[in-house]
Amino acid sequence: LAKFGLSGALPGLVDVRSFAGLSWRRIRAFGRNRYCALCGSHLRTFLPHGNPIRLHSVCPVCQSRERHRLAWLFMSECVFVDDRPCKVLHVAPEPSVAQRMRKLEQVDYVCGDIRATDGIRMDVHELPFKDQSFDFVYCSHVLNMVRDDVQALRELKRVLRTDGMALVQVPLSSGEKTIESESGWDDHDRIAAFGDPHIRRSHGKDAVTRFEQSGLRVERIDFAARHDAASFNRLGLLSEDLLICRWPEEVAR
Ligand SMILES: [Zn+2]
Repeated sequence: LAKFGLSGALPGLVDVRSFAGLSWRRIRAFGRNRYCALCGSHLRTFLPHGNPIRLHSVCPVCQSRERHRLAWLFMSECVFVDDRPCKVLHVAPEPSVAQRMRKLEQVDYVCGDIRATDGIRMDVHELPFKDQSFDFVYCSHVLNMVRDDVQALRELKRVLRTDGMALVQVPLSSGEKTIESESGWDDHDRIAAFGDPHIRRSHGKDAVTRFEQSGLRVERIDFAARHDAASFNRLGLLSEDLLICRWPEEVAR
């Protein structure tokens, strides 16, 4: 169709195709053992992923991983709890979560990243938004990759309404201190230290005090632990603490 210049004229056809693809993936993956809360699919199993490999990681229908489903559970139980309008900023959007949030009628959804793969082109160190524009910000596995994680959080604070909330996820190590890549390190050094050339730091137990340098109040919660073992497995979660960031109480009041 694109060859004949017709794809733009027939957006409905594309929708029908993607709907048919989704339905087919649902039928093929159907089972009673697992449930993906993000796309609402009943599944035989989640698929293996990662290095080291995790056996029950990827949803075969929406491609979400454990941390996306955990974040969505938090959002559905603690953020999108009523029909109140909610302006959302999703930094470096994960497709499965983006798709789910866009479906919520009360959500005015904005997303973007440095490459504008989905949404607008934006640098998290200097966001192109006015002060206090958003009720909710979701930023997952970004602050371990950016040049300055505290400056990025200062920006998230600036664009967050004083009664708003930012949900931040970073891989949290059991080490006491955050380990930073050193000046002069190249991709090989970062692969050796962090297993990925794009990662610039590994956050340790000091993540909360480090992130509070942004002026936000940070609460670290083990949200997955609020679900019993059977639900934990069925929903395909992982034990990664969530960082809930808000303005200081005296301002938020
Ligand atoms: Zn799914």
